[in-house]
Amino acid sequence: MRKVYVIGHKRPDVDSIVSAIAYAEYKRMRGWNAVASRTGDVDPETNYVLERFGFEAPLLLNEARGRALILVDHNEVAQAVEGLEEAEVLEIVDHHRLGGLVTAEPIFVHIEPTGSTSTIIADWYLRGGIKLSEEIAAILLCGIISDTIVLRAPTCTEKDRCMARRLAELSGLDIEELGKEMLELKSLKGERSPREVILSDFKEYTFGSVRVGIGHVEMLRPEKLVNMRSSLLTELKHIKEEKGLSMALLMLTDVLKLDSYVFCVADDPSWFERAYGVKLRGGMAYMRGVSSRKKQLVPPLARLFGFGISSS
Ligand code: MG
Ligand code: MG
Ligand code: MG
Repeated sequence: MRKVYVIGHKRPDVDSIVSAIAYAEYKRMRGWNAVASRTGDVDPETNYVLERFGFEAPLLLNEARGRALILVDHNEVAQAVEGLEEAEVLEIVDHHRLGGLVTAEPIFVHIEPTGSTSTIIADWYLRGGIKLSEEIAAILLCGIISDTIVLRAPTCTEKDRCMARRLAELSGLDIEELGKEMLELKSLKGERSPREVILSDFKEYTFGSVRVGIGHVEMLRPEKLVNMRSSLLTELKHIKEEKGLSMALLMLTDVLKLDSYVFCVADDPSWFERAYGVKLRGGMAYMRGVSSRKKQLVPPLARLFGFGISSS
């Protein structure tokens, strides 16, 4: 039987890794030859989750030419494994905006604006009456907790809360306790060099002909990093040039306040204010109530630059 690789995005996060593991297992129980995979190293938060609940990191796939894939937790080519254009995508299970992927064949797509991909997969297990082990329940709960900042992010829906409660019951875990441990581990990203901080969770987006990169760091006490603002801005500028981007942003989210410091380097300095209605001061703005990249930073850029979909 043909091997199918279930894979999340580059610079994988907890949701991306646990979705791949849990969905590959789900597919195997339905007779598929599915293998959980990843493209990129696991971060400390993910490593903690895997070790604590007894899982190996998924298979590392550096390129996917000629392989059959199921994409989880992303659908944009710029965020996917290398060689995607020459791979066969069979399915997409995701919770992000549609990002312009084109396929040769009709495929199964499930995109739902939940707080995490783990939520969608947990729902399928529970509704399908498929045996959900304590360990799979535990890692799916971690996926939800990680993506929704312990159910507090503006992306968090009633469905996420409901799934989290059921998974907590099944795995015997305490959501707040687990959440605290994971927030501490997320914050470790702030201990790294400016370059590693920016690239630790950096996603690229294409809006028509404009390419934008946005790094996101969620942490306790982000002021530590704000104090290094000039070195962060210098490095952000390097990364923007290196990747040939028109604009590069870095979002430092205070996970307790759910506000963010946003750093910006752009070809046109007026873009930021036109998109967000906030002025940059010395390349940075403090944005109250902003903690989601996909819901609060990306949509205004898509509106400003257009989607690049032509009807002709
Ligand atoms: Mg993700
Ligand atoms: Mg996710
Ligand atoms: Mg995230």
